[in-house]
Amino acid sequence: MSSIVYLNGQFLPRSEAKLSVDERAFFFGDGIYEVTRAIGGRLFEWARHLRRLERGLREMRLTPSITGEELESISLRLLRDNDLTDGEAAVYLEVTRGAAPRTHHFPPPGTPCTIFLSATRLTLPHEVRAKGGTAVTFPDFRWARGDIKSLNLIPSVLAKQHAVDYGATEAIFVRDGAMTEGSHTNVFGVLDGELRTYPESNYILAGITRDVVLELAAELGISVRQMPIFTHEFPHLEELFITGTTSDVMPIVALNGLPVGDGHPGRITMSLYEALVPRLAATGAAATV
Ligand code: PMP
Repeated sequence: MSSIVYLNGQFLPRSEAKLSVDERAFFFGDGIYEVTRAIGGRLFEWARHLRRLERGLREMRLTPSITGEELESISLRLLRDNDLTDGEAAVYLEVTRGAAPRTHHFPPPGTPCTIFLSATRLTLPHEVRAKGGTAVTFPDFRWARGDIKSLNLIPSVLAKQHAVDYGATEAIFVRDGAMTEGSHTNVFGVLDGELRTYPESNYILAGITRDVVLELAAELGISVRQMPIFTHEFPHLEELFITGTTSDVMPIVALNGLPVGDGHPGRITMSLYEALVPRLAATGAAATV
């Protein structure tokens, strides 16, 4: 059965959702997106996703005629219409600069943004987490606005394929001798018992999971420094993990073929994962009240 998606004001079967060949996402990747976790038909950390989306829209000078409340209610309806009100799902949301004859500059005023949302079942890689994933590094040649969740994902596509080619779970970008983030995740390491992650800046996406993990670390009394992890420090990493909507907290036990720490999921990593689980569960539990 074809799933139901939302496109420009209509709920319709995925197979019937069509875009114009003049779509600017097709020509230029001219748009932004969000992926929100859903548990038990509820959205996890929706307010933070909306804040990031609204910031991205401002930075990209995109002005869709839709409110945050409407986007939320479309997301919830898609979860219901696609029988995703139990267990885990992911809601994908995309806003583009719409369809217009190809010019680099913006299309004529009044050209409506394209708005697309879909909801799909999310299967988390729990078996990978149990033994730990692996990562390989990849040069970070992305533009210097990684803080915008833009559709231009070519470097991330090439990086993740590089990881797949090497049988690794994730590719970690390296810029100026330091880890920035993963192809679709943020990266944390433990050095001298202290949690380190690349500082929030124009070079990384401020992940929602990253934010939650920083809060959980504070609650657990883990000392955190938002400071880059440099390549010369790799051999001294005691733990390494990635975070993201579709990965939760995922331990990385080998980097570029060499073990991280003792080669097993780390203590701090797993304590953060274990602290995240009830936060996620609370989202879904609210739905059953
Ligand atoms: N960095 C990049 C480049 C990403 O694409 C993602 C996934 N959207 C993340 C980090 C993780 O962000 P989040 O925790 O919001 O999924």
